[in-house]
Amino acid sequence: MKTTNSQQLFSRAQQLLPGGVDSPVRAFRAVGGQPLFIARGAGAYLYDVDGNRFVDYVLSWGPLILGHAHPRIVAALADAATRGTSFGAPSPLEIELAELIQQFMPNIEMLRFVNSGTEATMTALRLARAFTARNKIVKFEGCYHGHADMLLVQAGSGVATLGLPNSPGVPPATTADTLVAPFNDVNAVAQLFDKYPRDIAAVIVEPVAGNMGVVPPAPEFLPGLRALTQSYGALLIFDEVMTGWRVHRGGAQTLYNIKPDLTTLGKVIGGGLPVGAYGGRRDIMQLVAPVGPMYQAGTLSGNPLAMTAGIETLKELQKSGMFESLVTRAAKLVAGLSAAAEDARVRAVVNRVGTMFTTFFADRAVTNWASAKSCDTKKFGAFFRAMLERGVYLAPSQFEAGFLSTAHGDAEIDATIEAARRALASIDVS
Ligand SMILES: *Cc1c(COP(=O)(O)O)cnc(C)c1O
Repeated sequence: MKTTNSQQLFSRAQQLLPGGVDSPVRAFRAVGGQPLFIARGAGAYLYDVDGNRFVDYVLSWGPLILGHAHPRIVAALADAATRGTSFGAPSPLEIELAELIQQFMPNIEMLRFVNSGTEATMTALRLARAFTARNKIVKFEGCYHGHADMLLVQAGSGVATLGLPNSPGVPPATTADTLVAPFNDVNAVAQLFDKYPRDIAAVIVEPVAGNMGVVPPAPEFLPGLRALTQSYGALLIFDEVMTGWRVHRGGAQTLYNIKPDLTTLGKVIGGGLPVGAYGGRRDIMQLVAPVGPMYQAGTLSGNPLAMTAGIETLKELQKSGMFESLVTRAAKLVAGLSAAAEDARVRAVVNRVGTMFTTFFADRAVTNWASAKSCDTKKFGAFFRAMLERGVYLAPSQFEAGFLSTAHGDAEIDATIEAARRALASIDVS
């Protein structure tokens, strides 16, 4: 595979951009090799600056559920741009997208648009603290909620509940109120509530974890969190930035029939443009300024181009059978990948919920961060590189979700499974 143009650009980029990238995992550090610079995307495919073509399972890390440059979105954006790119004043588009979101997720009685998932979760937690007049929050090991200071806590087993920051620059005081529990462990959360019965403002969770690779919730996990938060007067926040329109049309809250107090959104609702949102119970949302005292603002929030891309994306997903056929194809892909691993005698576990999936190089079920962490990341790196050579672009880390778009047809899926067979045969699987 020719990569000379990417290599030249990477050298130039590293002079100006730390690591040559604007988001760390793009740098391919976890898998070896150098990042490819992308010239364009079309449907299920990415084209790099050397003219290589890849079936794309990253899809901008989830947002592009209709694939790259979907004609409906491109046309709507071009049209919207002629009417102006930002108003700094309300426009009808914000209401339209809010109403669409509410049709899919009726638990969202009111919402506020922001510009990223990070902003959404950060503000939802501020709101939960304002509403409950409490300070502590509970998050789970291996769950990612954006890069706000108070959430940059992963905590290894030894410091599981101490809330030590895992990035320099985060003052310990900022994370002192962040409690951490293992994913899928209701008892650990019960113990935290037992210890701090009147101090926990909220439990925030990826209802299907995607940021340690895809890890579904155990049957008792989400109902357990709902019951505990309710009985202790804390709020339950579903971070559906990734799972929204990915595990089900109505998100994980519809799939598992759990009503969170607040929901955070991003990714798909922006259709590839920068958007986030937080919303939920009306009585809580009425604390948000200017109705209430909790301050939050944004120069570009509700941006007309971003709203347009979101509206067109959700309207497309409203078409009957659209989401269902996407899930059917995701299931077909995952079955093919599992069979390929089995035939190659590679120990692998493929987790999937809806249109999100991860191939873990593990020899036991992956149910939380501890089991995800025990995967053979070297083998994953070899698999990643072997797939790239064969025209398949996977997320460059073992601990990420893969995504499907409506542009991925049978031809792309069959080619991917065949590439996986050859890739697995080419790597040392011992
Ligand atoms: C991607 C993601 C975020 C952060 O969103 P950004 O738009 O990258 O700031 C937050 N929570 C979850 C679950 C995510 O997957």
